[in-house]
Amino acid sequence: MTVFERSSAASAASIRNFGMVWPIGQPAGEAHAIAMRSRGIWLDIANGAGIWANPCGSINLANRDDEWDVLREFADVAPSLGYDCRLLTPGEIAELTDFANPTGLIGGLHSPCELCVNPRKAIRDLPRWLASRFGVRFEFGSAITGVGSGWAVASDGSRREFDRIVVCGGADFKTLFPDLCASSGLRRCKLQMLKVGPPASGRLGPHLASGLTLRHYGNFAACSGLPGLRDRIAAETPELDEFGIHVMVSQNDEGDLILGDSHEYDSAVEPFDKAVIDDLILRELRRVIRLPSWNVTERWHGIYAKHPTRSSYVAEPMPGVSIRSGVGGAGMTMAFGLADRTWEEWS
Ligand SMILES: Cc1cc2nc3c(=O)[nH]c(=O)nc-3n(C[C@H](O)[C@H](O)[C@H](O)COP(=O)(O)OP(=O)(O)OC[C@H]3O[C@@H](n4cnc5c(N)ncnc54)[C@H](O)[C@@H]3O)c2cc1C
Repeated sequence: MTVFERSSAASAASIRNFGMVWPIGQPAGEAHAIAMRSRGIWLDIANGAGIWANPCGSINLANRDDEWDVLREFADVAPSLGYDCRLLTPGEIAELTDFANPTGLIGGLHSPCELCVNPRKAIRDLPRWLASRFGVRFEFGSAITGVGSGWAVASDGSRREFDRIVVCGGADFKTLFPDLCASSGLRRCKLQMLKVGPPASGRLGPHLASGLTLRHYGNFAACSGLPGLRDRIAAETPELDEFGIHVMVSQNDEGDLILGDSHEYDSAVEPFDKAVIDDLILRELRRVIRLPSWNVTERWHGIYAKHPTRSSYVAEPMPGVSIRSGVGGAGMTMAFGLADRTWEEWS
């Protein structure tokens, strides 16, 4: 097996994310099962490859009554849908994390299933392990410029022969199969992120997400309280909807806190980051978390491909050639499980 990557090292969406493996966010049924399968694979790989993966869990925080109503509604049905989660009081939250802001906190939904990985290290360490453990060959700095049944052409002009070709080009819709990408409905989405250096004291513990996040993940979609919550946020803080902002925080093995994020689509995707977005993310985070210092040490953005209705984009444009893309904001959560399922189908 050979992997071609046009950059000299992984540099795209997969190293720019929170490192949250977030099964609780997936809709009940197949998607949640795939996310849980991914979680298991992450733990196996972390064990085998010596990659840090922290089974930290997560808490969705509620600071408003409508947020708490949605969490309670979800917690009622969650066990019958296969989710492992429970409601927490503010006191119980304080036992799990030092950084939840107690002011205005009503409660939270805890799930033990989420993992934290450090994508900057994990994604760059994986090739070494895949090469030594399974003999996978990596050709970095090599763009694929053309693909057909049984062959691919690399940027050095060489034509290479393969039994099967899988195109996973992320948010690049222009290089390979541009017509298919254009008609696929796939969208490009840009997210702004920030990093705060390791706090002098205290620990995050579980990933934390604010009530804004309830409108972002499919698991809450069936809750009857969600439309009212959406309407309230749209009326009170339309600037958050304008930039697709909800807020979450994770803590990596170096103690850094990774904060985000925003969602801007297609023609709104610019190379330049907006200070107003960073300010809104920090404003909303300060409402729900309390840090010893808010010293922002890095700012960046990432771009992913997302399908408007499907959880991932799958196409077979010609015999022996498959496209696997469009996992949107859940690639760290879903990719291993989707790959595993695909491999089973092909075996
Ligand atoms: C800021 C941000 C935060 C996120 N947070 C999370 C999170 O916490 N949890 C979660 O589950 N998901 C998260 N996601 C989503 C997740 O990161 C993505 O779904 C995932 O990384 C997409 O992986 P990919 O391999 O499709 O794309 P990418 O990681 O973008 O990789 C595509 C690669 O293909 C290469 N390429 C493209 N065309 C060619 C070519 N012709 N030849 C050779 N190489 C080519 C590119 O150089 C690139 O390296 C986040 C995303 C972003 C941007």
